[in-house]
Amino acid sequence: MSAEAPLFARVVAWQRRAGRQGLPWQGTRDPYRVWLSEIMLQQTQVATVLRYYERFVARFPSVEALAAATLDDVLAAWSGLGYYRRARLLHAAAQVIVQQLGGCWPTDWEGWRALPGVGDSTAAAIAAFCYGQRVSILDGNVRRVLLRWWARGPAPDRPITARQLWARAQALLPASASAAEMAAYTQGMMDLGATVCTPRQPRCDACPLRSDCGAHASGTPEAWPQPAARPLRQTQDWWLLLPVRGDGAWWLQRRAARGIWAGLWTPPLLQGPASAQVPRECGALPAVAALHERAVVTHALTHRDLRLHRWVVEWAAAGDDAPALPGVQPDQGAWWSPSAALALALPAPLRVWFQNELSDSRTSSSR
Ligand code: SF4
Repeated sequence: MSAEAPLFARVVAWQRRAGRQGLPWQGTRDPYRVWLSEIMLQQTQVATVLRYYERFVARFPSVEALAAATLDDVLAAWSGLGYYRRARLLHAAAQVIVQQLGGCWPTDWEGWRALPGVGDSTAAAIAAFCYGQRVSILDGNVRRVLLRWWARGPAPDRPITARQLWARAQALLPASASAAEMAAYTQGMMDLGATVCTPRQPRCDACPLRSDCGAHASGTPEAWPQPAARPLRQTQDWWLLLPVRGDGAWWLQRRAARGIWAGLWTPPLLQGPASAQVPRECGALPAVAALHERAVVTHALTHRDLRLHRWVVEWAAAGDDAPALPGVQPDQGAWWSPSAALALALPAPLRVWFQNELSDSRTSSSR
């Protein structure tokens, strides 16, 4: 392939020669498998998705099975992948497909774009992979590749708008592109962004765009595109009180449907500076037999860090009533055996904590 060939042809040839092959969602036009992979791959690397994808497909082998599942089951299968909003929207979209579209898949970009959780770029990827539609993906990786390739001279006064970028990306697609070429191009742009034109150390020597890439010609390709000012990263402190009953059961409650960890199960949770004193104050309550403080752990979210202050509260009272502790929402929770609790949809750092609590309690009971 000559260095002067159009970008589209170079990317197609490069993908077939050096791009990623053999991924479990490649080589198929099955909309269910492609759609699921594209949702899982949002903000998540291929290596991570590989650990979940086949297990999820085995658990929910069709859109009908996914639509019929409870949200709890879906969140539990998603547990550990993060960004749980994706799982909730995936479940909602499955129900739209089954209940409103009669089980028929959308067949173009517009139809996919109308589904919950499917943005412009995801709709483009599905439309290109499954139907060969001439639409350009523009996720963060592809945006970086194109902005570097287009980079010329000083940075423009105003950042290019999403609409302008989309129009320029669309203009790169030849009218004669076949379905197979569209699939290879779409995969190739993803592969280039993920494996060659990486944010910090682009490997221009391995790139099919090097001959006319503006960022490469500048000598400092990693400096492109000009970074937008980032908001300052915030840290929030959360206090978690895990009530443990005499028979070993844990009190967990479901979080509200919006916000961080929406719909997942957690112990009673307190926020705000006044909360720091609360766990020790609980120690004075007659029904609290003992308090145990665990190490503080920091959990990174996209735009903030959560500092998790973890406490175990030995609850002396018997019965199924909710523990009378700060942060307890009686109508949102229940007592769970540890093994049943671990089958719930849990945030990843809490799953690790609970597994440690369970193995510690087994160790101490076997002594
Ligand atoms: S030549 Fe370098 S900077 Fe340009 S697109 Fe390729 S890897 Fe990125």
